[in-house]
Amino acid sequence: MSADVQSFRIAASDLNGRMRGKRLPLDFLGKIEGGKTRMPLSVLNVDITGADIEGSPLVFETGDADGTLRPTSRGTLPMPWLSGAAALIPATMMNEDGTPFEGDPRQALVRVLDRYARRGWQVRAATEMEFYLLDDSGKAPAPALNPHTGRPLQGSEICSLDTLDAFEPFFNDLYEACAAMGIPAQSALSEAGTGQFEIDIDHRDALEAADNAWLFKTLVKGLARKHGMAASFLPKPFEGEAGSGMHLHFSVVDSTGRNVFDDGSETGNDTLRSAVAGCLETMRDATLIFAPHGPSYDRMVPGAHAPTAVCWGYENRTVALRIPAGPAAARRIEHRVAGGDICAHLLLAAILGGAIDGIERAATPPAPTVGNAYEEACPQLAESWAEAITLFEQSEAIKRIFHPRLVENLVMTKRQEMARLEEIPREDHWKIYLESV
Ligand code: GLU
Ligand code: MG
Repeated sequence: MSADVQSFRIAASDLNGRMRGKRLPLDFLGKIEGGKTRMPLSVLNVDITGADIEGSPLVFETGDADGTLRPTSRGTLPMPWLSGAAALIPATMMNEDGTPFEGDPRQALVRVLDRYARRGWQVRAATEMEFYLLDDSGKAPAPALNPHTGRPLQGSEICSLDTLDAFEPFFNDLYEACAAMGIPAQSALSEAGTGQFEIDIDHRDALEAADNAWLFKTLVKGLARKHGMAASFLPKPFEGEAGSGMHLHFSVVDSTGRNVFDDGSETGNDTLRSAVAGCLETMRDATLIFAPHGPSYDRMVPGAHAPTAVCWGYENRTVALRIPAGPAAARRIEHRVAGGDICAHLLLAAILGGAIDGIERAATPPAPTVGNAYEEACPQLAESWAEAITLFEQSEAIKRIFHPRLVENLVMTKRQEMARLEEIPREDHWKIYLESV
């Protein structure tokens, strides 16, 4: 921690992946590190606008009880997007009796990872973060102006160095900030949409990878503001332009460091296929996790590199689960369904929960899809937000992954958000979601 720090933030993730916590002065460090910062449990279960959930048992039945924020092992991180020297302490929420709070998305992931740990296994995960840089000074957001010319970008340019380097000061700051925060940023590229970019975050232990994705989203949004732009993980900010997804790559290693999906072949072994089967069997019911907001469903359209069919395949980018080619020791699953607007901890919990469920049941997947999955007769993801909420609420598969309290809280949250959104004209929805997701 740098010596000139002037204040602390302690924060945990709410169900929408937003940071919720407090600012504290320097002399509170002992109290923070001792896990004594108090905050109502219901704060992690508010809706996207920050409002309490009407009728939630967390609010009135329990007298809106406090929990305590316990720092994670990550320690103290710089917050390079702020103007003052501040330090962030990522945290997890505990009940008053010292047990983990079941409504904390990070705890949901910890619970899933315990099932791997019982076998002596560790999950390694990497993420591909897609986002748009935007100019939101007008009536509606537009792609960011080219900082070199001050004029609008001319169309979408996949992997264009001209486009990427027009934003060089921003990306320089971003890489420097990632290094300072311990986020292992790898390649950056200009993506297919006008003003759309992607940064890949290297694989790490799955809990660390979820923390990294969570921290990265806050960092990018904050730094963009410092550079006079907005950054958004909205899954489909412009009709007719590419959507922003968040692909997750994962593999599992045993206690000797051996990849449990690898048998030296190009196809991987039965454990890999059971993990695929488990992910497929939970995928439709977990649509709410992959597409948690009203605007998420604008991205889920055929032919847009965002999968709509529940299927898998080898080296196939039209399917939901791609098994990338490459060295056998790196045999892994790429889960391509999620939009950029996910809660990172819930996303990893849903995917890895599905995979371990399939492994535990030695499940067998259907045949892999060869060719264009948009033209195959595969089962489909939920088509609407309302359908996704109902499927999630009623699913037996989801109950095997998430604590019933979290399922109830998330369903109530999403129903409240849906009711609120219906009162707002569609052209104004972006005002709620632009930087909140
Ligand atoms: N942007 C696409 C999506 O919405 C993914 C493109 C890619 O394959 O990187 O998921
Ligand atoms: Mg991409």
